[in-house]
Amino acid sequence: MKEIICLHVGQAGCQIGHACWELFCLEHGIQPDGTLAMNNCSINQSDQSMLTFFEDIGYKYTPRMLYIDLETTVLDEVRTGAYRELFHPDRIISGKEDAASNYARGYFTIGKELISHVLDQVRRIANRCQSLQGFVIFHSFGGGTGSGFTSLLMENLKVDYTKTAHLEFAVFPSPKLSTIITEPYNTILNTHCGLEFADCVFIVDNEASWDICTNLLDIKKANFVNINRLISQVISNITAGSRFQDGNATDLIEFHTNLVPFPRIHFPLVSYSPMRSIEKAYHEQNDTQTLTRDLFHKNNQMVKVEPSTGKYMSIAVIYRATSPPMFVPGGDLAPSQHSAVALANSTALVDAWARINLKFDLMYSKRAFVHWYINEGMEENDFSEARDNLAALEQGFY
Ligand code: GDP
Repeated sequence: MKEIICLHVGQAGCQIGHACWELFCLEHGIQPDGTLAMNNCSINQSDQSMLTFFEDIGYKYTPRMLYIDLETTVLDEVRTGAYRELFHPDRIISGKEDAASNYARGYFTIGKELISHVLDQVRRIANRCQSLQGFVIFHSFGGGTGSGFTSLLMENLKVDYTKTAHLEFAVFPSPKLSTIITEPYNTILNTHCGLEFADCVFIVDNEASWDICTNLLDIKKANFVNINRLISQVISNITAGSRFQDGNATDLIEFHTNLVPFPRIHFPLVSYSPMRSIEKAYHEQNDTQTLTRDLFHKNNQMVKVEPSTGKYMSIAVIYRATSPPMFVPGGDLAPSQHSAVALANSTALVDAWARINLKFDLMYSKRAFVHWYINEGMEENDFSEARDNLAALEQGFY
């Protein structure tokens, strides 16, 4: 068994994580208390592949994961919610004070208080694995915890687990859906660290997800619940090869070997099809050709960039067939028996980095908000070093 440990960091990481575990449980016939739904004949209960993501503790299953947040509100909802019995209480870790959208608080002051406890819990989960394959970290680039604490965690994991893969699902900032002014700083400081310590980062941008919910799924007032369900559906397809028995399926961890031609260019552009509401699904075709064509349409991409401006260096397309049609909690996205995900290492992504670099420069040229970071232990030099690294990343795409 090749296990994968999921680490959900900060509000976005935990909330997206929750949508994912809800969906994974439905797909594997696991009930909210962790026991198997015995009368679900559509699920192959002899399939042990789900043990990559779930641990069998005899009478029930529990996810191989940690929820980590520096403040407690989001995780209190998990502790009291419908899935409270699914998660081991020790694996829901919250602090007392939030990171106030400040990378430096997540990395230095507040984060340092929690890191040894988190690493201890990671060790406990890792010790219960036969052959740990890797870590998947879910977080936002823009939040103080999602950026700062994730960097601290990545640095430590790379020291303790040298032979395992370190992948990320990360939310790229989009000003339309966030009021956090310091997101460009947090994003660039986190990416600077991730360029060294992450093997592959799958980016989703909230604006692209919001547009999909509004324009393709016909949701009137899309919110994070809708967006997170959409993201979890995409993540479910990306991880399906690791969670279900199939001789031909490519393992999540194998993707990055095939997708990353140069270590630093490790940000595949994710797209999904079919993206359609239940009403439309009855009137549209769903064959392999249509699925594949739609994958390369910019409306189906999880990041807002123009694909025709770039070149593809590598692409993995994952086709999935489920019987019966795959489950969708909440039902925004029409259930579909056939679906596909493309992971494309495209130079078009340079536009997303150029946009965020420009925003960083506008603020940093005036040293706006920098004092908040200095007060928490950072040095001005850290900003310029990170920005230089991102300039090199931009150049690396050409
Ligand atoms: P943190 O807890 O300090 O890491 O802060 P957040 O995770 O709230 O980070 C803020 C960024 O995450 C902003 O870009 C928000 O738009 C985004 N965000 C916050 N919550 C969610 C969520 O549930 N889903 C998604 N997709 N994005 C979120």
